[in-house]
Parts: sequence; structure tokens; C-alpha cells
Amino acid sequence: MKTDHSYARLPDGFFQRWQPTAVKAPEWLAFNDHLAKQLGLPPSSWHSEEGLAIFAGNQIPDWAEPLAQAYAGHQFGQYNPRLGDGRALLLAEVITDNGQRFDIQLKGSGPTPFSRGGDGRSPVGPVIREYLVSEAMHVLGVPTTRALAAVTTGEAVYRDDAMPGAVLSRVASSHIRIGTFQFIAAQGEPGDIQQLADYVIERHYPDCANQPNPYLALLAQVVSKQAALVAHWMRLGFIHGVMNTDNTSISGETIDYGPCAFLDQYRADKVFSSIDRRGRYAYSNQPPIALWNLARLAESLLSLIADDEKVAVELATEALQQFQPQYEALWLQHMAAKLGIAEAVAADKALIDDYLALLEQQEADFTLAFRYLGSELTDENNAMCSALFNEQDSFASWRQRWLERLAQQGQDNKTVAARMDQINPLLIPRNHLIAQAIQHAEDNGDLRLFNRLHKAWQTPFSSSADTDLIAPPKPQEVVQRTFCG
Ligand code: AMP
Ligand code: MG
Ligand code: MG
Repeated sequence: MKTDHSYARLPDGFFQRWQPTAVKAPEWLAFNDHLAKQLGLPPSSWHSEEGLAIFAGNQIPDWAEPLAQAYAGHQFGQYNPRLGDGRALLLAEVITDNGQRFDIQLKGSGPTPFSRGGDGRSPVGPVIREYLVSEAMHVLGVPTTRALAAVTTGEAVYRDDAMPGAVLSRVASSHIRIGTFQFIAAQGEPGDIQQLADYVIERHYPDCANQPNPYLALLAQVVSKQAALVAHWMRLGFIHGVMNTDNTSISGETIDYGPCAFLDQYRADKVFSSIDRRGRYAYSNQPPIALWNLARLAESLLSLIADDEKVAVELATEALQQFQPQYEALWLQHMAAKLGIAEAVAADKALIDDYLALLEQQEADFTLAFRYLGSELTDENNAMCSALFNEQDSFASWRQRWLERLAQQGQDNKTVAARMDQINPLLIPRNHLIAQAIQHAEDNGDLRLFNRLHKAWQTPFSSSADTDLIAPPKPQEVVQRTFCG
């Protein structure tokens, strides 16, 4: 495996070299063969004692030089000048055969100089959630960090109760966050912020180096990546739950799966996270919050964008103003495609909005209301979609408008329905199923449901799946609140 440690060549204040704290009795929870192969991870560490020791933090392989990254961040709007990897360590950067660079990071590997009184550990529940959801997101076509390995530690982690502990090994195109820029801009030595920006340009956005104003181009690139990312979340009903600036990746990947959740019944203002009391990170607030976070990045880059602050602010503002139109265009394209519309026009927004309003009024399941719509085109007598609605008349009249719109594109129904089934998943990582898998693992280390869900969510568009994985939660199964790790 070809590895490098380019982040460790940045100035001292960017990170601290640190070692994981060994755990008592590691056991395998999961290992991602596919990803290990892609990274070229040495076969000696696959499913082996050696691998177990490495991914528990009990052994430092010769390819690793562990360090904790420093960052700051706005948490629920409040600035915290010093966060950093409080329970994570970057082991190495891997360079794959096709030249892509990825971080391998341990999460839950013990306290670091950035732990701020935290235990540096993770309970098994959040590790299971991140493993399942991040791998499902990847298959669903969403930019995301990946899960390489998960091990239980044989040690208890204390939250409200004692829980079994676990360590997740996470892979990202980098772990650089908006909060990294905030930290270096506020606390770095002169020249550090330029060094960080140059590093990010070289690593993630090399084309910016040839632009007349590379740092403005960098901001514009991150704006576009975040607009694209949030449009993906919205098309799938995904709620991140902790969109703090330290959880906003510069590369545009979904990062830090905490109290995240997918919508079952559609509700625009839906919040799951137990710590999001005011709904700052509600489903429909995600686009404006992404823009708010980008404005914090812009502030960190101002000194590089122009010498004159007024000019810098004007240029940065123009770059930020690209977010809304880019996001709206992508949202329209995704949502229209979910309805079978190949080439969206502005007028399609009303059709989409009205469908969402119908789902909200009638408490219909978001995922199935799109997935089952396709079958309206191939089988006139099927009632799968209409059965999701209590009141048939309003669904029927919307359906009529929708069919008229589809008729305009002059494609045969079978083709449109087949295309819709490649866009609208039948399976999403439903909260109640994740909660059950976590419960089984916590109670007696039973990983059968975890493994079954992981496998099923690798083929979310397939038309054959067990009915218990398709169905929305029964009233007594509904998860109202999700929690951080
Ligand atoms: P989050 O919002 O969960 O991504 O975490 C915010 C900050 O808290 C980051 O600096 C984390 O490293 C830190 N943190 C979260 N959980 C722990 C923990 N159990 N021990 C130490 N630091 C933690
Ligand atoms: Mg975080
Ligand atoms: Mg976290």
C-alpha cells in the first residue's frame, strides 16, 4: 500500500502527533473488503489478528504516523476556538493505484490533547450507525466518508448507561473542515492560512491554482460542492443533524454521522437530534445552514482573496451568492427526475412542491411515495402508491397533472418507470431498523441484523427486498430522537 503523510508536513500548530490508547479485548464488528481492496490495504491486516490490533488502536502499523488534527468551529451558531480531534487520529494518507489520496482515521481511539474532558471513546451504537449509513450513502450516490473497519473494544463506555465501546476506521478524501480554516485563520502564524489554502487547492481543487484569484476560486469550488451535497441529502430525505462548521468537509463529502436520520413520513421541519432543540438543523433548514457555514469559510479566506478588505468582502459575497441558484437548479433536477421527468423546467417546481405538500398533509412515507409512483405507469390497477394516502381525491388530482406532464416528454411509460426505479430507492437506512440492530449488538453482541441490513442496503434500488426492510416503522417502532456518540 502506498502511503504518505502530507498533512504532517504542514506547520506544527495544525496538528499534534499522538498515539491511540490500547483497548482490552478487541473483536471484529465489521471489515470492508471492497474498500480495503481499493485502498490496497496489505492482506495481512484483513480479518486477521494483526488487522484487529491495528483497527483497535492496539498496534501502530509501519505505514501509520498517527496525529490529531486541530480545528475550531461554530457549534449550533456558537464559535468554539478549539475543538480538534478529541477522539480520532489520522493514521495515514493512502494513495490508490489511480492516484487518489484518502485519509485513514481511527475514531474512538482514546483521548487526545483536544479531548476537552471527553473520554476519547465511542459507544458501539454510533459506530454501527456510521458504518451502516455511510456505506449506504455511498451506494445511493452521495459523496461521503466511508467505513473501512469497526471493532468492539471489550471495554465499557459511560454515557447515560454503560455501553460496549467500539472503534470505527473511517476513510475520507480528507478530514479538512471549514473549522480547520477557522482555526488556522484565527490562531495560526502569519502565512499559515495561505499554506492551508494552497494545500487544499493542491489536494482537492488543483484547477484553482491556474485561476486569476486562486483563493476566490477555492471558495467558489467549495460553494458548488456543498450545494451539490445538500441537494443529494434533500432528494433522499437525509437529515445530517449536526451541521456545525467543524462537521462540514472542505471536499464536499458527508462527514461525522452523529444523530443523523432519514425521513420516514415527510415533514419539512423534521428534526431527530436530541440536542437540536430549536430545529437549527431541521430537514428544510439544511440548504440555508450550508450557506451560513460557507460564509464562515469565506471569512477565513478574506485576507487571501484581496488586500483591500472591502474588495475581498465583495468578491466573497458574489461567490456565496452562487450557492442558492446552484442548489435550486440541482434540487429541481433531482426532484423532477424522481417524478420521471428527464429534463426539468422551472414550472416543474410547482408539481414537486405540491406533491411534497400532499405527502406532508397526509403523513405519507417519503421514500415509498416516490418509489411506488413508478408502478402507476406500468400497472394501472396497482394501488401501492395510492395506499400511502388517506384521502384519495387529492392524490388522484395531483396524479392527473403529473401524468399530463409526463405525456409531454413523449417517452414510453415502461422506460420512464424503469428510470425512476434507478433513482428512487426502495430501501433507505430506516432509523427503527438501525435502532434494532444497535439494540441487538448492545444486548448480546448479536450482529446478525447489522450484517443483514448492511447487505440489503448495498442494493437499495433492487425491486426484491424483504418486506420488513421496505416497510415504514409501525407506530410503536417509530424513532423520535437520535443521539450523538
Ligand atoms: P462532533 O460534533 O460530534 O463531531 O464533535 C465535536 C467535538 O467534540 C470534536 O472536537 C470531537 O472530537 C469532540 N468529541 C466528541 N465526542 C468526544 C469524546 N467522547 N471524547 C473526546 N472528544 C469528543
Ligand atoms: Mg465532528
Ligand atoms: Mg462526531
